[in-house]
Amino acid sequence: MNRIAALFTLLPLVAAAPVRADWMERTEAIMGTRCYVELWADDPLKGNDAIDAVMAELRRIDDLMSHYKPESQLSQINQYANERPVQVDKELFDLIKLSTHYSQITEGAFDITYASVGYLYDYPHHVHPTEQQIRETLPAVNWRNMLFDEEHHTVRFEHPGMRIDLGGIGKGYAVDRGIDILKARGIQRALVTAGGDSRIIGDRMGRPWLIAIRHPDNPNKVVTRIPLSDSAVSTSGDYERFFDEGGVRYHHIIDPRTGHSASKVRSATILAPTATQTDGMSKTAFVLGPEKALEIINRMPEYDAVFVLPDGRVLYSNGLRPAAPRPAGAPAAPTAASSARP
Ligand code: ADP
Ligand code: MG
Repeated sequence: MNRIAALFTLLPLVAAAPVRADWMERTEAIMGTRCYVELWADDPLKGNDAIDAVMAELRRIDDLMSHYKPESQLSQINQYANERPVQVDKELFDLIKLSTHYSQITEGAFDITYASVGYLYDYPHHVHPTEQQIRETLPAVNWRNMLFDEEHHTVRFEHPGMRIDLGGIGKGYAVDRGIDILKARGIQRALVTAGGDSRIIGDRMGRPWLIAIRHPDNPNKVVTRIPLSDSAVSTSGDYERFFDEGGVRYHHIIDPRTGHSASKVRSATILAPTATQTDGMSKTAFVLGPEKALEIINRMPEYDAVFVLPDGRVLYSNGLRPAAPRPAGAPAAPTAASSARP
């Protein structure tokens, strides 16, 4: 057999060679934001199926909980719960109830009824409520005025003019459900992101992922990077949805006590085991500002936080603080394992 013939007879063998394990990624626009999945797959077909399944799950949750979709169960609550109890799926019922847990531990800084005022803002069209409108609608902002029936999964509003919006916790919840799907399929290394909410399983082949916190005024500038594995992270920033008018920044994180955009920090980043936790707490940290938020977060060992302040300073919770400077003459510290991604 000459050399060319030998080459041809080898070709089918090459085609049947084992598939290559590799990183795979995909971005889609779901929940009004950028959703991204990256994972390490032993088999590209299985990896692709797993990404399909995560994206389908994000779409399913959006259909259930979007306040932009009039047919969603959440919109049904907003439409009818002022008149009567509205029955919803246990999943949505449970998430709404969970949101009241965050309201409780944050003294109302996180409150999905913020939407009773929040709907008066229209950022793309530079619309904000007048002081008079805020005065009129603010009494409807109070999570305690949601009444729950555990047996029938109903929600009822006790105050006229109430609305709710899960924009502050739904993406984190969706990321967690996406991660559950990947874990059930045996994926051991992955990142799922929806808007400002991400969760990571595993690491990048023995090295941590590096999560960048951007500069509030320059999306291409990084303020700090945090090495992470097996963790969730959410950032709330005043640069995501906003407009400036008369020296005031009107943006999408609302202080439920005032009805105005919160302004103590430029961004608040939270780290914790699940994205539902980090999403809920990132609004809280943003609204309360570093002092009060760190009081709460430093008491909860699962949580850490990074703040970017209006003057550009970066503040860390106790768990992230760099070690205190070593006293002169102390023996050298062992070098830390170097980290990964740009
Ligand atoms: P992203 O949606 O990109 O993840 P955030 O996690 O910062 O951004 O969430 C911002 C959203 O949170 C707002 O668009 C709004 O839907 C909701 N929200 C704003 N203020 C509050 C608040 N005080 N409590 C609960 N949810 C809020
Ligand atoms: Mg979020």
